[in-house]
Amino acid sequence: MSWITGKPDKDENLAAELQARATELEASRAELKAENSRLVKENRELTDRVSMMERGRAQMGVPTAAHFVDGNGVLWQQAADGRIEAVCYCPTCKLVMTPLPSGYPEEMVCTSCKYIAPFHPEKLAEAAQAVRDLAGGGR
Ligand SMILES: [Zn+2]
Repeated sequence: MSWITGKPDKDENLAAELQARATELEASRAELKAENSRLVKENRELTDRVSMMERGRAQMGVPTAAHFVDGNGVLWQQAADGRIEAVCYCPTCKLVMTPLPSGYPEEMVCTSCKYIAPFHPEKLAEAAQAVRDLAGGGR
């Protein structure tokens, strides 16, 4: 409080402003933390589902590891008819790689070993096409 004007002085106003801002930031930090937890959980569930579906496909005789082709630093699955889908797999774990939502720019990451593809998710279709061109197969 200023002894001259009887009003809160600049430092008090600034302190109050900073306190309000800190409270706001803490609230948004808590929101982001909750959102991140939700996304990590969802990602884990989706990865599990994909793994389960891949196992199901393997049991039905759909091409598996034997039909992986190497390209752009990752693996791609080539179907019996030569088609290569725009889905990349970890060269080590052979699991589907997924865009990591918490980074910027997003990266294609193996959720198991954290391997990062040498291209960003928006280049996935392009990378797949380059592998198709090299493999000479499919669309
Ligand atoms: Zn991996």
